[in-house]
Amino acid sequence: MSTDLTEARRRVAEMLKQDTGETTPQWRVIITDSESPDGIAPVCPKTQDTDGLHVIADYPGGPIQDGDGVYDCCPWPQVEMHSTLLASYVVALLNADRPTEASRG
Ligand SMILES: [Zn+2]
Repeated sequence: MSTDLTEARRRVAEMLKQDTGETTPQWRVIITDSESPDGIAPVCPKTQDTDGLHVIADYPGGPIQDGDGVYDCCPWPQVEMHSTLLASYVVALLNADRPTEASRG
């Protein structure tokens, strides 16, 4: 398999199109089974919905949005990085690699 960046980007874009509907989704840090923010995943389109998903209903003081949590609605891939620092870095890299509004035309 080629390690050329352009080819690797093209192949991943095909996979992400199938998994998320977008070739270059925005990424986020997620809280994994380790209960720390050391995973990465594409941003869930339902993150800002108010239909009960991505909400911690029993949070002390009242329900809050859960931007780092993972629910059944959340797209794959969801990748455990085993490091909060590495997760933040990889998310920053992936988001920096997204086409800008200008380059999309
Ligand atoms: Zn979700």
